[in-house]
Amino acid sequence: MKPDLPKKVTLFGVPIDNLTMAEVIDRIEAMIGDGGIHQHVVVNVDKIVKMESNPSLRKTVLDCDLITVDGQPVIWVSRLFKCPIKERVTGVDLFNALMGRCAERGLRPYLLGARQEIVAKTVDVLKAMYPKLNLAGWRNGYWAADEESKIVQDIKEAKPDVLCMAVGSPKQELFLGKWKQEMHVPFVMGVGGSFDVTAGVLRRAPQWMQRLGLEWLFRLAQEPRRLWRRYLNEDMAFFRLVWREWRAKRS
Ligand code: UDP
Repeated sequence: MKPDLPKKVTLFGVPIDNLTMAEVIDRIEAMIGDGGIHQHVVVNVDKIVKMESNPSLRKTVLDCDLITVDGQPVIWVSRLFKCPIKERVTGVDLFNALMGRCAERGLRPYLLGARQEIVAKTVDVLKAMYPKLNLAGWRNGYWAADEESKIVQDIKEAKPDVLCMAVGSPKQELFLGKWKQEMHVPFVMGVGGSFDVTAGVLRRAPQWMQRLGLEWLFRLAQEPRRLWRRYLNEDMAFFRLVWREWRAKRS
């Protein structure tokens, strides 16, 4: 029998919850029921690199109650360092699974983010997939700075059980970290481009590419102009961080 894997794995100074998708969903449901306010975050290459130069993002991530990995390179690094993470829990799969659980349990999510037509389409798609889903509300992700407190109040008044925010990283994590207590939502999470995928605007990589950890290549092929420079810079920065971590772990 395989030995039990540790429940937490620390990589790049981030304590990651070593859970499967099913365990994550159960943990979220328990968090929603325990009377507290909880934030979930996914770590991937992008976030680990941004955390190096953005102390507010680092603090926000470290303050989260549930941290999972959405990014094959981070899984590879966990294996390299002999503290393997069980499973990659992709943001979009988690978002969909959580909407299913909300429908089953009568929990009310609020969707915040993406362009108006995208979030509207996401609502339609989710209602078709989960007819019992009862949304607390939804709103697009574009607003002026002086509208922020009104948005926070609207969410608070809607009294959702879950807030899924899709305005890109690190904006969504910082917004949630700043306002979660005020909004008083039991469980908040950033879901990045998940509404675009659910609405069918962004296609996901085929299963075989996902299995080989090549989702990034598929995304690069879809949006080469926007992504190539970002991937190149981030990957070089990530390699430097892996090297630093490697040396720290050996000494
Ligand atoms: N988005 C938004 N408001 C903004 C910026 C972005 O709602 O001010 C949405 C955008 O429409 C998309 C999602 O955030 O649906 C993810 O954006 P992006 O791909 O830029 O984020 P990344 O995945 O690069 O962090």
